[in-house]
Amino acid sequence: MTAATTVVPKLIEQFEHGLDAPICLTWELTYACNLACVHCLSSSGKRDPGELSTRQCMDIIDELERMQVFYVNIGGGEPTVRPDFWELVDYATAHHVGVKFSTNGVRITPDVAAQLAASDYIDVQISLDGATADVNDAVRGAGSFAMATRALENLALAGFADAKISVVVTRHNVEQLDEFAALANRYGATLRITRLRPSGRGADVWEELHPTSDQQVQLYHWLVANGERVLTGDSFFHLSPLGQSGALAGLNMCGAGRVVCLIDPVGDVYACPFAIHDRFLAGNILSDGGFDNIWKNAPLFRELRAPQSAGACGGCEHYDSCRGGCMAAKFFTGLPTDGPDPECVQGHGTPALARERATPRPRVDHSHAGRVRKPVPLTLSVRPPSLPPSRPCNESPL
Ligand code: SF4
Ligand code: SF4
Repeated sequence: MTAATTVVPKLIEQFEHGLDAPICLTWELTYACNLACVHCLSSSGKRDPGELSTRQCMDIIDELERMQVFYVNIGGGEPTVRPDFWELVDYATAHHVGVKFSTNGVRITPDVAAQLAASDYIDVQISLDGATADVNDAVRGAGSFAMATRALENLALAGFADAKISVVVTRHNVEQLDEFAALANRYGATLRITRLRPSGRGADVWEELHPTSDQQVQLYHWLVANGERVLTGDSFFHLSPLGQSGALAGLNMCGAGRVVCLIDPVGDVYACPFAIHDRFLAGNILSDGGFDNIWKNAPLFRELRAPQSAGACGGCEHYDSCRGGCMAAKFFTGLPTDGPDPECVQGHGTPALARERATPRPRVDHSHAGRVRKPVPLTLSVRPPSLPPSRPCNESPL
C-alpha cells in the first residue's frame, strides 16, 4: 500500500491498541496524607517505608522525558507532604514533563501560590467534595473545606491562572453542582467532576455514597447542559445511554493499560489509578526493567489492549457509547468485568449487585488506623521529641 492510500486508523482504534506512551499517567508519590477521606481510592494515610527515593523519582522523570510523556498527574496520598515534592516538580518541568498535581491544599500558602503562578508548566487541582463545609467535611474530615478554599484563595490572589476544583460526585453533593460551578467562577478556576469508584476505602462507602438512579439521570442532564465548561476526566461514559443527546463528549471507553496507567509510591505500575489490586498490577519499575519496558511489554497491558469481549453487554443497543462501563467499578463490586457496570443506567447491574458476591480487597492498606469508615477530625499526632517513631511510616506526614 502506498503512503497515499494508507488508511489512518480512527483515533479510538489506536487507543484501543495502546500507544507508545500513556496519555493519562498518574503518579502517586506517597501514601502519606494529613487527611483520611472516607472514599480515598488508594487507602492512604501512612507513608510506605518502601516509597521511592528522590533519585529513583528523578530517574523515572528522565525515562518519561525519553518516552515523550508530556505531562504527569501527580497525586497521593497528599503529595506535597513529601519533603522533596517541590524539588521533584522543578526537576520534572526542567525535563519537559509538565506537572498537574492534586492536593487537599495543606501546603498552598501565599508564598507557594506565588511560586506556582510563576510557572507555565504546573497545574494545580484542589480536591473538594462539597460546595459547603458540612457536605465536604463529612467525607474529607473537619476543617478540610476551609483548608481547600484557603488554598484556592491564595492561588487566585497570586494570579495563578485556571486552577482546577476536583469533585468526586456523591449522593450528597450532586445537588450542589451549580454551587460548585459558582465556586469555581469565584476563584477563576475550572470545575472538574469525576465518578465515585468503589476502590480503596471507597469500597467501604460506595453503597451509601454513590448517586441514586434518579441522581444519575440528573447528573447526565447537568453534564449535557454544562459539559463545555466542566472537565470530567472522561469518567461518566456509563451515563451515555441515558438520552437522545447520545454519547457524552470524550473517549467513551475504558483506557486502562491502553492510554491510562498508574505508578504508585513504591514503583508498582497498575493499569489504572482506580485499580490498585494485584489483578491489575503490570510490574514494578525497579525490578522489571523500568517504566518504558512495563508499558510496552507487560503481559497485563498486552491483554488489556487485545480485543475485549462485550460479554453480557453484547446484546445491548448502547454498547457503542457505554462499552460496559468501568472495569474498576465492576471488579471492586465483585461483578464480572465483561458484564454491565454496577451503575448501568439500563438497570442491568442491579440484579448482579443483589446476588451474593465477593468483593476483592487490595493487598495493602495505608489507612492511619486500619480501615477508616467514618470521617475523622483533622488532628495530627505530635510525637514527643525524645521518642523515635515505632516505625518510620508511622510518623505524621507533616
Ligand atoms: S477502569 Fe474505570 S476508571 Fe480506570 S480507565 Fe477504565 S473506565 Fe476509567
Ligand atoms: S448493559 Fe452494558 S453496554 Fe448496555 S448500558 Fe448497561 S453497562 Fe452499558
